[in-house]
Amino acid sequence: MTEEKKTNFIREIIEEDLKTNKWGGRVHTRFPPEPNGYLHIGHAKSILLNYGLARDYKGKFNLRFDDTNPEKEEQEYVDSIIEDVKWLGADFEDRILFASDYFEQMYQYAVDLINKGNAYVCDLSADGIRETRGTLTEPGKESPYRNRSVEENLNLFERMRNGEFPNGAKTLRAKIDMASANFNLRDPIMYRIVHSEHHRQGSDWCIYPTYDWAHGLEDSIEGITHSICTLEFENHRPLYDWYLNQLGIYHPQQIEFARLNLNYTVMSKRKLLQLVKESYVDGWDDPRMPTISAYRRRGYTPESIRSFSDIIGVAKRDALTDISLLEFAIRDDLNKRAQRVMAVLKPLKVVITNYPEEKVEDLNAVNNPEDEKSGYRTIPFCSEIFIEQSDFMEDPPKKYFRLVPGGEVRLKYAYVIKCEEVIKSSSGEILELRCTYDPETRSGTGTSARKVKGTIHWVSARHSIDAEVRLYDRLFNIEDPAADDNWLEHINPDSLEIVKNSKLEPSLKNARTRVNYQFERLGYFCVDSKYSNEHSLVFNRTVTLKDTWAKLNKS
Ligand code: ATP
Ligand code: MG
Repeated sequence: MTEEKKTNFIREIIEEDLKTNKWGGRVHTRFPPEPNGYLHIGHAKSILLNYGLARDYKGKFNLRFDDTNPEKEEQEYVDSIIEDVKWLGADFEDRILFASDYFEQMYQYAVDLINKGNAYVCDLSADGIRETRGTLTEPGKESPYRNRSVEENLNLFERMRNGEFPNGAKTLRAKIDMASANFNLRDPIMYRIVHSEHHRQGSDWCIYPTYDWAHGLEDSIEGITHSICTLEFENHRPLYDWYLNQLGIYHPQQIEFARLNLNYTVMSKRKLLQLVKESYVDGWDDPRMPTISAYRRRGYTPESIRSFSDIIGVAKRDALTDISLLEFAIRDDLNKRAQRVMAVLKPLKVVITNYPEEKVEDLNAVNNPEDEKSGYRTIPFCSEIFIEQSDFMEDPPKKYFRLVPGGEVRLKYAYVIKCEEVIKSSSGEILELRCTYDPETRSGTGTSARKVKGTIHWVSARHSIDAEVRLYDRLFNIEDPAADDNWLEHINPDSLEIVKNSKLEPSLKNARTRVNYQFERLGYFCVDSKYSNEHSLVFNRTVTLKDTWAKLNKS
């Protein structure tokens, strides 16, 4: 991606505002997650959009927890969200804010609306309110409590706050228009009674504001200029505007954009929570999940997620984005930064019969051909090595350029070897290959004019270290699992393959988490932060080298 930012309709709005000095030259955005789950790649898009605008227009970006619903929210989620937003590089400075800190102010605003005759306490039950809402073609019915006096409303609202009524006994509703074509304006609920502990406010409150009532107030209190949200809030905007206009307070502009949907993925927090709770995956950060913490564990970089976010841009209409674009962004980034190493996932032993048994050579290997400064390392070569089982075939198809009986192949950074003998068990399983090497063919010495078609990776059998390697594939095997009520039936049964006895080159002994490696010919890998420890080394495959699904779909 180029440094120059692609423009989009939100940038155009901001530039116009700057020209007309609508906000006094200020740009102030926010990301307002509800702490009821871990963040996913859709949230990343929203974070990077909001933060990117603040950064590019020298403005400010707030992280604000929309913690207005005590029943589903937890500190664990707050902590994970802060970590994820930081990791993405979205700088909120010292502004970690909580909507619940504005509860008193919101209450005062509600009292204001009551005083203005614009809100009333309603005794209808949730069902009662639903039944009187009307339909698309019929207006709703006015609540019998709609014309209570200001004094009575003030009194009842205070008693609601004081805990005198049980859950659901009363609500505070805005007095707008039961005949409005927009359902959101048919006397919407502002407060509900919920006797429940709040993760930050404890039992201070037993009335809680609804999203629509609270959100504009939060934006207003923080001096937000552009309140960016997803398209499903478009028909809530008249209500957002109505509340702020009635109160006559500072009034940010709500702007809607299309949410990110990825194919082969579910993104709703409810569904992700179900995958976790019912153990379809191993936690929120299972590397097959679309959460930020899963991507981090899997070896994705913040740079690659930022570049993905730039590639997809900002749209006004919902669409399904191809997950291969995300994988492209990861490969593109890791290609530049990942150190190359050799690892054999499913080893086949090769004994080189004409190589001196005690001899060990240290061969030079390039760390990263994309990065001149990365230099070289040495890798040991000796008479016993491992190659990949799939790099040998007894009955090869045409155009198989790897090792075959009697055939030759180049060992990367080393020599050309020839397969002389295949050793099998009594049941016919291939146990080992006996090969010879040609001493005149050492890589990098320039003495060899001989060309062989295939080059394969290998590790020294005597020096390699053992590891478990986890290979991931898409969690769902259909494009749009969320569109099917039976979405759980579309989980890909092969989304995780655990390879137990892989062999790695010795330099990986000190591999640490959050460092990306390219296992030559196999893909990008990183140490797994959950299962790797001093006794066993566990690697995750971040992404394959090529888009294997594209190939599958073509054939
Ligand atoms: P829910 O409301 O179901 O709990 P949510 O995904 O909307 O889930 P929030 O915590 O309310 O979760 O979202 C925080 C912010 O992230 C909102 O501003 C929302 O618009 C934005 N957001 C959520 N999902 C996406 C998405 N898929 N693409 C872009 N932005 C998103
Ligand atoms: Mg939401």
